[in-house]
Amino acid sequence: MRVYNFAAGPSTLPLPVLEQAQRELLDFNGTGMSVIEMSHRGKPFMAVNDEANALLRELMNIPDNYSVLFVQGGATQQFAAVPLNLLKNGKADYILTGNFAQKAYEEGTKYGDMAVAASSKDSNYTFIPDMKNIKFRDGIDYVHTTYNNTIFGTRYTELPKTDATLVTDMSSCILSEQIDVSKFGLIYAGAQKNIAPAGLTIVIVRKDLLGNASPICPVMLNYAVQDKNDSLYNTPPCFPIYMSLLVFRWLKALGGVPAIQQINEEKAKLLYDFIDNSSFYKNKVNKKDRSIMNVPFITPNEELDAKFVAEALKQGLVSLKGHRLAGGMRASIYNAMPIEGVKALVEFMKKFEMENK
Ligand SMILES: *Cc1c(COP(=O)(O)O)cnc(C)c1O
Repeated sequence: MRVYNFAAGPSTLPLPVLEQAQRELLDFNGTGMSVIEMSHRGKPFMAVNDEANALLRELMNIPDNYSVLFVQGGATQQFAAVPLNLLKNGKADYILTGNFAQKAYEEGTKYGDMAVAASSKDSNYTFIPDMKNIKFRDGIDYVHTTYNNTIFGTRYTELPKTDATLVTDMSSCILSEQIDVSKFGLIYAGAQKNIAPAGLTIVIVRKDLLGNASPICPVMLNYAVQDKNDSLYNTPPCFPIYMSLLVFRWLKALGGVPAIQQINEEKAKLLYDFIDNSSFYKNKVNKKDRSIMNVPFITPNEELDAKFVAEALKQGLVSLKGHRLAGGMRASIYNAMPIEGVKALVEFMKKFEMENK
């Protein structure tokens, strides 16, 4: 039986995509073998790689002066790759809106003069700092932001006011809502939340930023090398790239990002409205900054939180335990979570409240 899986990542994938992958596993496109058994330089796989790249460009409206790279190492590897590729003056500013932002900053300090321009750490990251009040240093190479904060359930609705290159980590929100790629110099995202299985990382980088990598930048992290080789400098993560292609096709058939954004907003509204109208459940995030992908919430006490998670599991509503840094519960409602899953969660929440009030 398939459950409703609210895991933060790796996370649920669209059922039709899984079924197609299952059907094609023994014989991909008449080759008599699966897509994970063939050369990454042969025509069948190259076609997968090219179509995945082209479809992501189409879905996100990525302008021609940007490269789309498929790399490995997760978003965490990008915490180092970004400074190694983008520093020219040797300094950058970071906005700390969660644990991953903090990690990106700490990794960055190994490679340059990094500063924290703003942080919401003192409130356990329950809001996004006010963009109007942030002063950036002169001469910085970039400002690093984390667009959606997976653990704490916040998201940017406004961008920093700066002429410096904007870099953003979109691991948990890529393709969930329309964004203007041209506002950013670089976007990166681990695929395992909103796109595909773990093992693939997406990098979208403006081409004029290529070619300035530090001499100590490992070849595998060098964006210019990956760009020149169509992300096939070495063996790529073939299976996640293939799965991405299936997910991109699924999303396109659904109406693309505008259509999924509408569904995502509807799902998030269902859940937040229910929480806000309840005196039993609570979401601590500043309303304007609420994520539409990750929804943390609590009951009146920790014992009830644990009971909630355990009883939900029995109803086929799984992986609702919050991250250890945030506590409580968290429902990750990525693109592949159908609205029926959110409705089932709300029904369970109602019942649990009545039984435990
Ligand atoms: C999950 C996540 C990461 C870490 O991703 P890995 O691919 O495991 O390195 C980084 N940033 C954000 C916003 C995330 O959600």
